[in-house]
Amino acid sequence: MSKLKQFLQDSETKAFDLGHRNTIRFNIGKYNAAVQRGLTQYTDHELARERASYIKTNTINNLDKYLMEFESNFTARGGKVIWARDAQEALKEIGEIMKRKRARSIVKSKSMTTEEVHLNDYLEKNGIEAVETDLGEYIVQLAEQRPYHIVTPAMHMSKKDIADLFVEKLKIAPTDSAEELVGVARRLLRDKYTSAEVGITGGNFLLADIGGVAVTENEGNGRLSTAFPKTHIAIVGIEKMLPSVMDLDLFWPLLSTSGTGQNVTIYNTIFTGPRQPKEKDGPEEMYVVLLDNGRTELLAQPEKREALNCIRCGACLNICPVYKNIGGHTYETTYSGPIGSVITPHLSGMEENKHLSFASSLCGACTSVCPVKINIHNLLLLNRKQSVEQGLADSQEKLAFKYWTKAMKSRTLMNLAPAGIKNFVVKRFTKDTWSKRREPVHFPPKTFNQLWKERKK
Ligand code: SF4
Repeated sequence: MSKLKQFLQDSETKAFDLGHRNTIRFNIGKYNAAVQRGLTQYTDHELARERASYIKTNTINNLDKYLMEFESNFTARGGKVIWARDAQEALKEIGEIMKRKRARSIVKSKSMTTEEVHLNDYLEKNGIEAVETDLGEYIVQLAEQRPYHIVTPAMHMSKKDIADLFVEKLKIAPTDSAEELVGVARRLLRDKYTSAEVGITGGNFLLADIGGVAVTENEGNGRLSTAFPKTHIAIVGIEKMLPSVMDLDLFWPLLSTSGTGQNVTIYNTIFTGPRQPKEKDGPEEMYVVLLDNGRTELLAQPEKREALNCIRCGACLNICPVYKNIGGHTYETTYSGPIGSVITPHLSGMEENKHLSFASSLCGACTSVCPVKINIHNLLLLNRKQSVEQGLADSQEKLAFKYWTKAMKSRTLMNLAPAGIKNFVVKRFTKDTWSKRREPVHFPPKTFNQLWKERKK
């Protein structure tokens, strides 16, 4: 089945699944209330958004310079940088490190780039156990699912769903206590931290001036995943760059407020390389994999480049009426929701993913909440334009627009048939598409020319 057909089928199923709707409404409702509280920490939130947008736009426009600066500062402290053009290159290099370290298991904190390159599948195929240490990620890994949301991976599950999952997979006694469930995961994960040879993280920001990787998390699992293992690998998209560590005073609160409504996320760590001679803890080796994987394709298109400003806060997903109805899994992509629909065609192919840019009401709610002011709905329109220009529209659509354009350009053709016949033809040809859930288009009984003539009289 094509990705488009699958998407339409799954959207229909999810949109009418009342259980799913209730869970999402409940969880997003809690998020919305928290964000409103969080926003009160700003005297001028709009100004913060303007500043963030300005800094990110400038950084992306000079990304080559900042990447080189990052590399030279990070390597100066003994860190190693790996440039990966795509997922295959990233996996190959990580595989080499695993071999050198004779790694049998890794611990991993939450990272969407590792999802993007399908790291867990790769490691498992190579006989290496990959353990997710973020609670939400741990839950979806246990459920053998992909993350539902870029910030809250298990948002689609209720407390009862999680309890049932733990009973089935971990053989615990039934419980409805969230504390007990967290305690079970906590105990099981402790051993994993101390036995893993390698710790893997993503990175929320790359800091050019100090050669640092900033990681933001709420559970302390990111710190544990990097404190015990002797090797730390951070896999980070090249667009996560900020010029300076000083920019974090703006970006850390913006990310947390928009993402979870917190004033600032609980654990914020900056990694600047492996353990130095006089330091007591930290890994013996640290690698940063700088992942391109289609990002330079976006960088090469000035009108769409702003999509690279995204700091992955998830706010556009939570506000999107489409996301709230069809849910995160329906997208079948690493990055779902509005920003996922913008970037996925560039990361994973326009032809197979162009339909995502059409799955939007273009209401602009996503744009209105974006902390870095990305014009998301406009980018969706630009993707649509690009897909048509590349000749990717299907034959039925091409034919329909060909005749529509012809008719719209000719008053004689517009007036050719009586309204009854036009209504019949349009209804028949749009019954499975436009008119499936909408009132069919109705032509008025009199044409514009007839009405004009009558008015002149
Ligand atoms: S596009 Fe904006 S709102 Fe959406 S995840 Fe990125 S930063 Fe957040």
